[in-house]
Amino acid sequence: MSFPIDSNGYYGSYGGAFIPEMLYPNVEELRSKYLEIVEEPSFQQQFGELLKHYVGRPTPLFLAKRLSKEYGCRIYLKREDLNHTGAHKVNNTIGQILVAQRLGKQKIIAETGAGQHGVATATVCALMGMECIVYMGEIDIARQRPNVERMKLLGAEVRSATSGSRTLKDATNEAMRHWINHPFDTHYIIGSVVGPHPYPDMVARFQSVISEEIKSQLLELEGRDYPDYVIACVGGGSNAAGAFYHFNQHQQVQLIAVEASGLGLHSDKSAATTALGKPGVLHGSMTMLMQTADGQVVEPYSISAGLDYPGIGPLHAHLYQSERARFMSATDEQALSAGIKLSKLEGIIPALETAHALAALDQINFNPEDVAVLNLSGRGDKDLETYIEKGTY
Ligand SMILES: *Cc1c(COP(=O)(O)O)cnc(C)c1O
Repeated sequence: MSFPIDSNGYYGSYGGAFIPEMLYPNVEELRSKYLEIVEEPSFQQQFGELLKHYVGRPTPLFLAKRLSKEYGCRIYLKREDLNHTGAHKVNNTIGQILVAQRLGKQKIIAETGAGQHGVATATVCALMGMECIVYMGEIDIARQRPNVERMKLLGAEVRSATSGSRTLKDATNEAMRHWINHPFDTHYIIGSVVGPHPYPDMVARFQSVISEEIKSQLLELEGRDYPDYVIACVGGGSNAAGAFYHFNQHQQVQLIAVEASGLGLHSDKSAATTALGKPGVLHGSMTMLMQTADGQVVEPYSISAGLDYPGIGPLHAHLYQSERARFMSATDEQALSAGIKLSKLEGIIPALETAHALAALDQINFNPEDVAVLNLSGRGDKDLETYIEKGTY
């Protein structure tokens, strides 16, 4: 196991399952069965076939020559943007829907902020002919119209969360409430390495295909199966967890996690959890989160909707605390210019989430012989309006 957890789902002092008693049977059913299910050969085979023929894996590992020249080292891009639906999220939703089927569930619920996880969930529900309900804050529904329409087109029902701040946190509460009321026929697909145990471990395993491929691709391209650096952006942390997974025990590999500092670390408009947060319980696990002095969750901000999350997964809180990974941050402005730079240098328009990881290249002192792998978590089509409005190119 590459991110070791104890039997209660703790990574060091982070993780666990902090859930209302009413939710215990659902989470316990999943906890007691997930490992057996995902390790079954028939599961592995079906998962592998769908990743290959539906998602389009393996994704290329591309040596970005012009970008490399700019930074004086060898930079490879792991092209998760080329997955079906345009990002890494589908690796996880495919895995979880196969788990749901093996648990005998007929219905799927999910919550979504910007709608990207909602779309990835609606996609696999259509593929498998399963009923799909996606909870989304009323405010997010209004500002993320294209993703709402995509979900509907894919056959999902989008339910508006109208309580509280009417954003992701409230959608999560509604999804939890729904799950409590439908414990037998429904599986809840969580979209990142967050939530109560076993979700962080399960999601990390599904995303670990990213570093599994990087290893064999690097062996072929560089003659060694590990890089000097792996760099990824962190919202909840699933693409980073997947990219780090098989390198975590390999101490020579430097793991770099990049958070969004929004308008600036101390602007009150940021999502840089490790820089600003403290330990606390969020979405059912003990982790680092941004909170006020009296423990209220702070509403996060980032130009990229996918990084706009007040916490990080517990495995990342542990990577931070143990100093195994180096955490950095990039502002909206730095991310925008890094995204524009990649577009012009390599002909690849990245998602604004990914652009944060690219911006971190400026903060690293590379040696000429260094090999760095940057996880290109998603494509930038969805962000075109923002590039047009806020970018200079
Ligand atoms: C959702 C998303 C992220 C952030 O989620 P993680 O769980 O941290 O990976 C990053 N990049 C893209 C393209 C996304 O869609």
